[in-house]
Amino acid sequence: MTFADLGLMPELLRAVEDAGYSEPTPIQREAIPIVLSGQDVMGGAQTGTGKTASFTLPVLQRLAPHASTSTSPARHPVRALILAPTRELAMQVYESVLTYSRYLPLRATCIYGGVDMRAQTQTLRDGVEIVVATPGRLLDHVQQRSIQLNQVKMLVLDEADRMLDMGFIPDIRRILSLLPNQRQSLLFSATFSNEIKKLADQMLNQPQLIEVARRNMVSETIEHQVYPVESSRKRDLLVHLLKTSIDAQVLVFVDTKFGCSRLTHYLNRCDIPADAIHGDKSQQQRTEALEGFKNGSTRVLIATDVAARGLDIDDLPYVVNYVLPNTSEDYVHRIGRTGRAGKKGKAISLVAPEDRHNLADIEKLIKLKIPVHTVDDFIPSDAGRSRSDEAPPRRGRSDDSRRSRGRSTDDAPAPRSRGERTRAPRSKSTVAADGFDYAKPYEASTAAKAPTAKPDAPGRNRRPVAFLLGGIGRKG
Ligand code: AMP
Repeated sequence: MTFADLGLMPELLRAVEDAGYSEPTPIQREAIPIVLSGQDVMGGAQTGTGKTASFTLPVLQRLAPHASTSTSPARHPVRALILAPTRELAMQVYESVLTYSRYLPLRATCIYGGVDMRAQTQTLRDGVEIVVATPGRLLDHVQQRSIQLNQVKMLVLDEADRMLDMGFIPDIRRILSLLPNQRQSLLFSATFSNEIKKLADQMLNQPQLIEVARRNMVSETIEHQVYPVESSRKRDLLVHLLKTSIDAQVLVFVDTKFGCSRLTHYLNRCDIPADAIHGDKSQQQRTEALEGFKNGSTRVLIATDVAARGLDIDDLPYVVNYVLPNTSEDYVHRIGRTGRAGKKGKAISLVAPEDRHNLADIEKLIKLKIPVHTVDDFIPSDAGRSRSDEAPPRRGRSDDSRRSRGRSTDDAPAPRSRGERTRAPRSKSTVAADGFDYAKPYEASTAAKAPTAKPDAPGRNRRPVAFLLGGIGRKG
């Protein structure tokens, strides 16, 4: 199936082609015709499924007949309102709107808090058909009467579950009360709690339910790696990896704002261009950091979980967990920034001895024993302690080979490269659980190159690290 089969107009098909997509994803195949027909939608889809284009494209098509080249503000009332929970997410949706509307004379803007309102007010006063907004700032503009919502014909609520988590539902209800009843509404959410269903009941009119099969929780195209290291040596190991094997841009996760700043300074002192994104940064600093990373001038972006939520950075080949997240679910969120839409990615975790329990939980959740890599000089001193100290050993050859090939020095595959020891890579099917091959469009077009490891630096160690490798069949 092609995008043309979905009934999209030539201007949009051209923009989609420019973006390099050759085939619609499952959510796009389902949602686009329904939205084009004017029906309400309740969509169950996570980021990474192509959800943004699934609503942006048909919204643009439905607004296209109203597009006008007139400069009169009266000819450009707000006709579509797209609400997103965070500034970053709003920006990303806005960028999609710009990408797909490039051949249509429709005006769009993005309004979010944390920045001066005046420029936003001016843009709104000049007239704009599509407003992407975070709820709080939108209500500020409502209060200041810089925006009129009485001509809104389309409403999109993106990531409704996160809106709920962030306490935005009362704001959403207020916004709903300001919109005309005669409108088309779309609600997207990764999960449908009772509260979301209640909101959907109020907001949607006989909605079509679209649920794309949950993609494999963790993309098959991600290669996971664990590097054991003492906490105090993590920054040096990171620098070592950045100078030897990590050959592209990296998003690094830390646990605190302070840690974020400290690591950024350290990397910069080591001549590695790095920037930080965390909650204490002003909106301008955050935007600049993200821009620098997107345009490639910053090689390493260091972030806390909160700041990184919802960041969609194309072509991100590496994610590093400098500190493992507190919850296994956060691991899945973090590494969701790589291996998107079928591209290859690596998720590297620097694991201190005290983090081993977190690691075990993560492995349980993602149902994968993560291969351990070691670098000489960075092996923690308690490496002799076995993980079997904590957990009863798993016995049996089949279990061993299924869960962790290469656990012992004997049955380990040959080291990938000089001095580095790793287990066999897992198979890399790019076909997700929903049957869509997320790799195809990219290979055909934008061709995200899979990172190729550089030859390893000399001196890596072949010794297995006991506390991570477990105790079965271990010799060294
Ligand atoms: P989203 O779920 O909207 O956050 O999209 C996830 C990623 O998939 C984004 O980087 C999009 O650019 C990309 N994408 C969206 N639609 C397609 C498609 N039909 N083919 C390939 N990639 C896509």
